[in-house]
Amino acid sequence: MTTPPEIPGAKHIHSGKVRDLYELASGELLMVASDRQSAFDWVLETPIPDKGKVLTAMSLWWFEVLDVPNHILSTDVPAEVAGRAVICEKLAMFPVECVARGYLSGSGLLDYNATGSVCGIPLKPGLVEGSRLEEPIFTPATKAEFGEHDENVSYDAVVATVGAETAAALRDTTLDIYARAHGMAADRGIILADTKFEFGARADGTIVLADEVLTPDSSRFWPAEQWEPGKPQPSLDKQIIRDWLQFESGWDRKSGEAPPPLSDEVVERTRAAYINAYEQLTGRTFTA
Ligand code: ATP
Ligand code: MG
Repeated sequence: MTTPPEIPGAKHIHSGKVRDLYELASGELLMVASDRQSAFDWVLETPIPDKGKVLTAMSLWWFEVLDVPNHILSTDVPAEVAGRAVICEKLAMFPVECVARGYLSGSGLLDYNATGSVCGIPLKPGLVEGSRLEEPIFTPATKAEFGEHDENVSYDAVVATVGAETAAALRDTTLDIYARAHGMAADRGIILADTKFEFGARADGTIVLADEVLTPDSSRFWPAEQWEPGKPQPSLDKQIIRDWLQFESGWDRKSGEAPPPLSDEVVERTRAAYINAYEQLTGRTFTA
């Protein structure tokens, strides 16, 4: 894994799979998005060039257009990390991955095929990979420690962790943002199939949208014109890498061994998909 950059005046406090967090003298956070790529909860040894910049630009665009309290304070960041970092409020993060799904795919599909439900929410029979749900559902997951796998949990488990009032607020806000973002993406020819948010609390208790938002790392983006339930969907997100690792690289996910390095071709295809998603959604041109 790449070592987090040294940044004068900033104290490195945490590295997640993709982002490096620093604390500034002011107590504010500097959140730096690296080009590291994670898949199946592994950090891959091959980075995707410019990915951190694309994710940062995309999150900033969504934070701008979504009218919800968010953690962004400034984009005036040290030159070492220009374009790939933001200064944000330090929040007490809720240990819940707030997932909204409008379509069936990934771990939601696995859960449905095994139980007829997703995270304990019963769905009608006969749904297939890529089916649109009658209405979007909140399917939370636990936030895993480094190296552990996130796990889908029931709404009741969220209530037990954060209390009934906060759980309801997290669920309602997640579904509200998902619905609005789904509509905006649809206007631009992209299906936002599902997404994951993270929220934190200010000292006064206000719930604030944090982390990255509505990026190809945290969401499934499907070109609307190619959507066809009953099979895996072409996608503008990290599904490209998941598919390559599982079906083309020869890697056995169950072996417990680290995934192999990515081929140049899959790196380029992923980079292009991330940039495409950014440009199609925002109408802006990506400049590295
Ligand atoms: P993944 O998202 O792939 O599961 P990760 O959760 O291990 O990876 P990253 O996303 O790489 O970690 O790192 C970002 C970290 O910063 C996360 O732990 C996230 O909860 C935390 N974070 C994001 N915004 C804030 C904030 N405003 N205050 C405090 N912590 C934050
Ligand atoms: Mg994260």
